[in-house]
Amino acid sequence: MKLLTATSRTQGDRDNDFTFCVEGELVMVSGFVCEADRLDPDGGCGCGRAFAGLNSGKATTTALVSDLNFTPEDAAEAVRSALLRSKMFDADDIPGITEELLELADGYPVGTVVEHRLGEIRARV
Ligand SMILES: [Zn+2]
Repeated sequence: MKLLTATSRTQGDRDNDFTFCVEGELVMVSGFVCEADRLDPDGGCGCGRAFAGLNSGKATTTALVSDLNFTPEDAAEAVRSALLRSKMFDADDIPGITEELLELADGYPVGTVVEHRLGEIRARV
């Protein structure tokens, strides 16, 4: 099934790209945007344009739509356990966040690099 993974592909296309994730780890859209980036995805912090690595907890501005040998249950469990570990989310919100994340990658062909702009996900071309 399709999931988003951290990638260094297209890094540098934007001046303020960064990637601290482990290449290939699962990522999610970081749910929280702080004051610095709230109105500007190119703000001083970076959280308005970042994906969060589910294992490393670090951030990247580029994610790859990857076809991984995960069942939907495996993927949901990976997301769920990472969210629980991060302690940034209410346990009650986790099923909704998980579902949203799994749907996200489904909208793009495998191999598409996507970026995050204040909650909006776009393909990079
Ligand atoms: Zn921030």
